[in-house]
Amino acid sequence: MPIDLQLGDIIETRKQHPCGSSKFLITRTGMDFRMRCYGCQKEIWITRPNLEKRIKTITRDGEDYKF
Ligand SMILES: [Zn+2]
Repeated sequence: MPIDLQLGDIIETRKQHPCGSSKFLITRTGMDFRMRCYGCQKEIWITRPNLEKRIKTITRDGEDYKF
């Protein structure tokens, strides 16, 4: 079962971005995902399998979902 990921979800990843932040906002969904780093505002493309491997927490509507 793929992880349910939606536009606007806030993702906390297991690995930090080089800037030190581990929080990202999902800005594009589809075959590949785009997410914006909360630390440096950089947008990065990532494939679903890679993203799913990295997810620790999804925050949606103020609720946390842990993985
Ligand atoms: Zn960053």
